Amino acid sequence: MDLFEYQARDLFEKHGIPVLRGIVATTPAEARAAAEELGGGTVVVKAQVKTGGRGKAGGVKLAHDPAEAEAHAAQILGMDIKGHTVHRVMVAEGAKIAEEYYFSLLLDRSERRYLAMCSVEGGMDIETLAVERPEALARVPVDPRTGIDEAKAAEIVAAAGFAPDVADKVAAVLTQLWTVYRAEDATLVEVNPLVRTEDGTVLALDAKVSLDANADFRHPDHAALEDKSAADPLEAKAKALDLNYVKLDGEVGVIGNGAGLVMSTLDVVAYAGEEHGVRPANFLDIGGGADADIMANGLDVILGDQQVRSVFVNVFGGITACDEVANGIVQALRLLGDAATKPLVVRLDGNNVEEGRKILAAAAHPLVTEVATMDEAAAKAAELAAAK
Ligand code: GDP
Ligand code: MN
Repeated sequence: MDLFEYQARDLFEKHGIPVLRGIVATTPAEARAAAEELGGGTVVVKAQVKTGGRGKAGGVKLAHDPAEAEAHAAQILGMDIKGHTVHRVMVAEGAKIAEEYYFSLLLDRSERRYLAMCSVEGGMDIETLAVERPEALARVPVDPRTGIDEAKAAEIVAAAGFAPDVADKVAAVLTQLWTVYRAEDATLVEVNPLVRTEDGTVLALDAKVSLDANADFRHPDHAALEDKSAADPLEAKAKALDLNYVKLDGEVGVIGNGAGLVMSTLDVVAYAGEEHGVRPANFLDIGGGADADIMANGLDVILGDQQVRSVFVNVFGGITACDEVANGIVQALRLLGDAATKPLVVRLDGNNVEEGRKILAAAAHPLVTEVATMDEAAAKAAELAAAK
């Protein structure tokens, strides 16, 4: 889960990283009040959207007094930044910046460790710097077992080439950022810019944090950080039902047992769909021991997608035998009753396939077509989606 800047700022503050005060506002009047609460002096009004490049897009503006903060907020609220509508701004104390640096710590999956990236040339466009002058961006591997201790922090600041007068201060902040990463189970902590102010303080002026959802069980407090308004309603419903569902853009609903099988089903449907101008509508893995209730829940979510015009149920019987799955489909259709309105193409194979097919044949549900192979089933599902 990616956090908004103001949420990441709060986490930084909780772990002792130097940040400036910030207050979230959803209206220009609130922004004005926030600027007054911060002392009535210079503030920065910052769009809160989960994308970078807000500064360049005009979503970060310096205001010299509360009236200007109100005017900037009026301009920034409602703005579209790379497809994200601005619903909130953060009004933050202004800093007198002397230098802007860059730091990030992320998960390097292929190397099975973390990677710290750091530069004395931070600010707006680190991607350009990384491409045009890669030598200006230090990359230092971090062993997960030791993290960023004092020695590692010293190595990072040396690699980035910090001047001696700030190196120690920056190193101290890096060890604190490691604490955030570790204690909060983050997969990314990025600070751009990390700044030195005119009076020599080192501050995190921007904060980007992604949290590892796999560690949610360790962090009951993280649930409150979720942006419920942004979640796709179908994905939210699937999540509440404990289903492994991802909404896609097409017309052919897909259900399978096992993530690998569902992934390859998406490929086959995409391929078969080319001819008919249709694509997969979703990923849905009902897992190993899928019973009728899980099947009904899965179908219910998929049929709730207005774009779906046919559904491909692709099951390979393993531990869960095909006759159980077939019973599940029949019961699911009974449970759904009139809510089941779109054609289902079912392909069963594996353990007890013959019994499974008999059950489907005996039920003879008008919406169900049973097809023997995955390719034929994909073609049939695509054809039905295009025909409707
Ligand atoms: P981003 O463009 O989405 O990464 O947004 P940032 O929060 O990084 O802000 C963009 C730029 O605005 C920074 O690189 C700074 O140059 C500038 N900025 C942000 N906060 C302040 C501040 O308090 N004072 C001043 N003078 N500039 C700021
Ligand atoms: Mn930034």
